[in-house]
Amino acid sequence: MLNIVLFGPPGAGKGTQSQYIIEKYNLIHLATGDMLRAEISEKTQMGLEAKKFIDKGQLVPDETVIGMIAHKLEKHSNASGFVFDGFPRTTVQAAKLDEMLQKHGAPISLMISLEVGKDELIARLLNRGKISGRTDDQSESTIRRRLEVYNTETLPVMDYYKKQGKYREIYGMGTIEEIFQRICKVIDETKGK
Ligand code: AMP
Repeated sequence: MLNIVLFGPPGAGKGTQSQYIIEKYNLIHLATGDMLRAEISEKTQMGLEAKKFIDKGQLVPDETVIGMIAHKLEKHSNASGFVFDGFPRTTVQAAKLDEMLQKHGAPISLMISLEVGKDELIARLLNRGKISGRTDDQSESTIRRRLEVYNTETLPVMDYYKKQGKYREIYGMGTIEEIFQRICKVIDETKGK
């Protein structure tokens, strides 16, 4: 199995690159942000609760996202691997993911961190807000809040994987294709081991 955590701040290109990775390596894409937005559009209780956090640029409680991931792992128990996009975002989520994957017999193979400068992130997110209509991308103050939350709550996840020797950094500027080629190189090296 090939299990990849695609890591990076909001706007780093995780969603875009995930699509290319799952296609090339035949993996299942698990994006907690997408799952939450689906709950919101279906107006479920969980979605309505989550929206309060998302609109403020805060993280949704760990139990909610862990529960969603657990459900998907069960559903796709025959998958040849997963790309985790936007998850884990806290060390509690990272530890829980290890625990869940143990049951499925295959740990995280590697964590790929997409590195993009702050000014570029803000510009990309504001632009995405105009196109996608995502409410959390439309106000610069919410975007800045999300970047702060990333620095305080999510960056420690990087150390979690560094300690496991699974962390790899990728330069996240350039064309989509250039960035994808950098990612493939790292994945192929890992697969070859
Ligand atoms: P994303 O599409 O990954 O940028 O996620 C959009 C929003 O959903 C985030 O700003 C959080 O409020 C929430 N969210 C997504 N994934 C998680 C997660 N793993 N933990 C907590 N909140 C999350």
